[in-house]
Amino acid sequence: MSRYSNNKIDSFSENEDTVPIGSLNILSAKYESLDYEVVENFVYRDEERKKGYQYVVKKNFVRWIIFFWIGVITATVGIIIDLSIENIADFKFSHVKQYIEECNQKNCLWRPYILLLVYNVVPVLIGSTLVAYVEPVALGSGIPQVKCYLNGIKIPRLVRIKTLFIKVIGVITTVVGGMCGGKEGPMIHAGAVIAAGISQGKSTTFNKDFGVLNYFREDNEKRDFVSGGAAAGVAAAFGSPVGGVLFSLEEGASFWNQGLTWRIFFASMISTFTLNVVLSAYHGHPGELTYWGLLNFGKFNNFALSYEIFELPIFVIMGIIGGLTGALFCHLNYKLTVFRMRHLVSRWKKVLEAILVCCSTATVGFLLMLWRNDCKPSGLDPTKYAVQLNCNDGEYNYMASLWLQVPEASVRSFFHDPEESLDVATLVYFAIAYYLLTIWTYGLSVSAGLFIPCLATGAAWGRLIGIGVQFIFPGADVGKYALIGAASQLGGAVRMTISLTVILIEATGNITFGLPLMICLLTAKWIGDYFTESIYDIHIQLSGIPLMAWDPPPLSSNIYANEVMSHPVAVFKSKETVGQIIDTLKTYTYNGFPVVDGIFNLDSEESYCNNYKPNGRLRGLILRSQLIVLLQNKVFNEVPSAWDNVSLTTFRQDYPRYSNIDSIEILESERHYTIDLLRFMNPSPYIVQHMASLPRIFRLFRAMGLRHIVVVNDSNEVVGMVTRKDLTRYRVWRHRGTLGVVELRISAK
Ligand code: ATP
Repeated sequence: MSRYSNNKIDSFSENEDTVPIGSLNILSAKYESLDYEVVENFVYRDEERKKGYQYVVKKNFVRWIIFFWIGVITATVGIIIDLSIENIADFKFSHVKQYIEECNQKNCLWRPYILLLVYNVVPVLIGSTLVAYVEPVALGSGIPQVKCYLNGIKIPRLVRIKTLFIKVIGVITTVVGGMCGGKEGPMIHAGAVIAAGISQGKSTTFNKDFGVLNYFREDNEKRDFVSGGAAAGVAAAFGSPVGGVLFSLEEGASFWNQGLTWRIFFASMISTFTLNVVLSAYHGHPGELTYWGLLNFGKFNNFALSYEIFELPIFVIMGIIGGLTGALFCHLNYKLTVFRMRHLVSRWKKVLEAILVCCSTATVGFLLMLWRNDCKPSGLDPTKYAVQLNCNDGEYNYMASLWLQVPEASVRSFFHDPEESLDVATLVYFAIAYYLLTIWTYGLSVSAGLFIPCLATGAAWGRLIGIGVQFIFPGADVGKYALIGAASQLGGAVRMTISLTVILIEATGNITFGLPLMICLLTAKWIGDYFTESIYDIHIQLSGIPLMAWDPPPLSSNIYANEVMSHPVAVFKSKETVGQIIDTLKTYTYNGFPVVDGIFNLDSEESYCNNYKPNGRLRGLILRSQLIVLLQNKVFNEVPSAWDNVSLTTFRQDYPRYSNIDSIEILESERHYTIDLLRFMNPSPYIVQHMASLPRIFRLFRAMGLRHIVVVNDSNEVVGMVTRKDLTRYRVWRHRGTLGVVELRISAK
């Protein structure tokens, strides 16, 4: 019998204290699944019949229009973020530069330091307070959460407009506040929110229903739009429309189809184009269209990115280094996150930690500027805020120029600055400092992504390797090695392969360098996976989110449905009394109930004595949300007038937040009324035989994006129930090359 059977509403409370905080082997019961299955019941077929083919064409046309707007609005949000950061950072760095120049002569360098602290702390204080107190789900890049959504998990408040506002302000404040974070990752989350928002024709945040597009108020429709939004976000962030499509494919491929691919590609292209047109016009050359994405790697010439066969092993070695440093990154950040979960729980502590990290980042940068007198002749490279700090006339301090710019500009410096401008020691200090600060920053109560700090760290050590290679093979281009280092470091931490390769190919605009990028990303992933999960997966596991892996656990063909399933099953008769429905919904937290003919009492002694006593022949499956709507609208057999008004719109009205069963008012006299569930249930739910193997159930579940699978015996009688939590509790466990399957515990938190 499954451990989760008899999942009564308070069944977890006794175990709460024994659940270790920060364990990777816990599943949280609070996460529910999305319902991707179309319930082809009586009302659905009725709508189809009444509205006809014209309705299908209209719906499809509106879909394309929505994808167009997803592209445009996502790009617009990207532009707002980009220009805000550019202008505020410009003001800040110019001011700090002016103070440094003045105080360099007068020996009062504490003044620009204090100024830098103020300029950094004020925005970070605003951003982290908003995240901690107003919308904690806006924390970080949002990529792990979007990944979970595409996987089929409901993440509360993830796609609300309020979350988008906080995210936008949060990203601007974090980057302007000089922290090790980028604006690119959050664009994926922003795109997802925009898509979910405009496709539904209503806003929960503003409590406004425009009364349009209600035919898209279903999880499967919304999910398609969200995939388009996430792709448009990647496209705007990196100037990478194909990378955007592949990102959505890599993260949510279970529901892919050709039509959806087209629409997502369309949204991504529109997003890149809109961003390009507006930013090109803003920067004074409207006709040229040279701003493909928010992240600009600068122009690599064809020579810089050409490579020879002998360099391939060097790229592999760099991939190994990226994998190792990435795994260490994940491990250290995991330890830190567990510490945060245990000791930094209150909101004010979270804000305080963000301020502490912000001050430390500014202090480390300032100390390195003062300590490392890396003086270069002025005009050697196009740095915007060059300061003379501790250098002779006609020179500028290179280390200072690295810190007095946004992190993206530092990445470009490592890729393109002339060979003479970067010393070995500068690169070493920068790489170590940035690596450690990024570990500390990720997971703080601020909105920011990981891509840019990882790229900056990797570009620094990659360039260092380039200098070594150049020493042995004069003439090698160091920028190319900086790019490989950047890719390896990022790949070692996030472990994305297909989409990241294409994103980097599109961002560099050079297809021939695709092979080296793929080699280093694959190597970094393999090496990193040997030691730890990816940074995103670690955070997902720490939150206890039941994310479904790509494949079933290995060597699990001998585990059968009857070992995985829950039994006994809470079921309803095809014509059920209102009282019984209410009592069952109040007793159990389940969201799906098989509808059967011929039934025995779930709580009777008899049912518990015999594990596999069948519950009657399966007729269909009904969802909690459908039952709530039926009860709310009093669609009882004894009230014929209520039947006339039931349509799909009735069920979509409250989507996605249905009332709680406790808030539904039913008169005592109505408890004996009945509801004909046959009309509203899903008449053909997915089922498996009780002897089906775990890999088979897993694949069916994953490929169809299911929420429930009913287990039946040879006579089509219900014997068990399988949901996402039953399948995700078997997790592959890897440690130093050993592979095993670990069974997770479940927590109500
Ligand atoms: P989800 O949370 O994914 O939206 P759900 O709420 O219906 O789906 P879970 O919370 O995943 O179900 O279920 C927790 C446990 O309860 C699982 O072990 C599952 O097999 C079991 N379960 C689900 N539905 C029933 C049911 N109708 N009768 C008995 N057990 C069930």
